[in-house]
Amino acid sequence: MLVEGARILDVGALEKFDANKGAERIELPGVTLFPGLIDAHSHLFLHPYNETSWDDQVLKESEAYRTLRAARHAQATLESGFTALRDLGTEGAGTADVALKRAIEDGIIPGPRLFVATRAIVATGSYGPAARNYSGFHPGPDCCLPQGAEEASGIDEIVRAVRRQASLGADWIKLYADYRTGPQGEVRPTFSEAELRAAVEAAHDSGRPVAVHAMVDEAMRRAAVAGVDTIEHGYGGSRETFALMAKTGIAFLPTLTAPEAIAEYFHAHDDSREPTENMAMAAKAFQFARDEGVIIGCGSDVGVFAHGTSRRELAWMVRLGMRAVDALEAATAVNAKILRQESELGRIRAGFRADLVGSRRDPTRDIAALSDICFVMKDGVIVSDTESGRRP
Ligand SMILES: [Zn+2]
Repeated sequence: MLVEGARILDVGALEKFDANKGAERIELPGVTLFPGLIDAHSHLFLHPYNETSWDDQVLKESEAYRTLRAARHAQATLESGFTALRDLGTEGAGTADVALKRAIEDGIIPGPRLFVATRAIVATGSYGPAARNYSGFHPGPDCCLPQGAEEASGIDEIVRAVRRQASLGADWIKLYADYRTGPQGEVRPTFSEAELRAAVEAAHDSGRPVAVHAMVDEAMRRAAVAGVDTIEHGYGGSRETFALMAKTGIAFLPTLTAPEAIAEYFHAHDDSREPTENMAMAAKAFQFARDEGVIIGCGSDVGVFAHGTSRRELAWMVRLGMRAVDALEAATAVNAKILRQESELGRIRAGFRADLVGSRRDPTRDIAALSDICFVMKDGVIVSDTESGRRP
C-alpha cells in the first residue's frame, strides 16, 4: 500500500511500487491490517456510571472538566483502533463536542475524526436529571436544573432547536423519541409523529441526517414513519417495525454492550449469569433486525462503559451470531455509509483516507484480536506502532 499525505494512493503487490523506492517503508510482518474502526454511537463526554452516576456527571462536573476528560477519552479511543466516532450528544456539556472535534482536526490533541450532535433534543420534561428526584425543586423562569439535552415541545420549538444546533456545529441531529416518563417510570413515546416529521424536515433541509434514540416499538415506528436516518437501541422493536426500517433504508445501531455494562454496575452481572431482561431484549432486537434485513451498523453507546473498549460491541455482535467479518464490516464500510463517508472511510482502497489499523492476530478469525492492536494510522499519520520497529 502506498500512502501519500492523508490518503491511500494505491494498493497492490510490492513490485507495483518499484517507482516509489524513495518512499519510507513500514513493514508489519504477521500483522493483519484493516480499515480504521468506526463506532457510530459514542458519548465522549460521559464516563462509566459506576465511577460517577449519570445525574452527578451532568450536575456536578463542569463543562470544562468534562471537556478535559473527553480529550483523554478521545486519545484512548484512537489508540484502540477506532479512528472515527459519531458522538451522539454531550449529555449536558453544551456544544463542547464541536470544540473537541476542532481541536482534533487542528492537531492540538490526538483523537478520532468526529461527527457530532451537540446537545441532542428531547421533549419537555422527558429527560434527566428528572426534577421529581430533587427535593424542593420547582422548575420556573428563575431556576433551572441543568439538563442532559435541549428541551422542545411543539413544531415551532423543535424546528428552532434543530436549526439552533445545526448553526452551532452539529453534523447530525439527535432526537429522543421516548424516555422513562410513564407514571411508574416505564418508557413511553415522547415526541408526536408530527413533531418528529417537522424535526426531520428541518434537519434534512439543512443537509443533516437524523439519529433517533428509541427503546419502545411505538417510538421506533413513529421515527421510521417520520423518515429518520438511524434508530439507536431499539430493544423493544417488533418484527414489523424492523421490516419497515429495512424497507425504508433506516439503519439500526444495536448498542448491545450498554445493557451488559449497566447490569455489571448495578446488578452484579458477570458472564456466568443469565442475561438480564434488557440484555435479552437487546439480543432479540438484534435478531429481528438481522432476520428482516435491516442495515446494521456498529454503535456501542461507549461512555456508559470505558472509552477505548468499543471493541466489546463487535464481540457482542459475534456472540449473538454474526460472522466476525460481518461485524468488522459493520464497524467499517457499513458505518462509513451510514455517515455518508462511503467514498472516504471504511475501506482500504486507492483514494480513501489512510485510516489503518493493525492487529497481531486476524480479527476475521477471532474478533478478540481487536484487543491486540499494534498499529494505528489516521490520515496517513502514525498514531501508534509497536510492531515495525520504527519510531512513530
Ligand atoms: Zn447513547
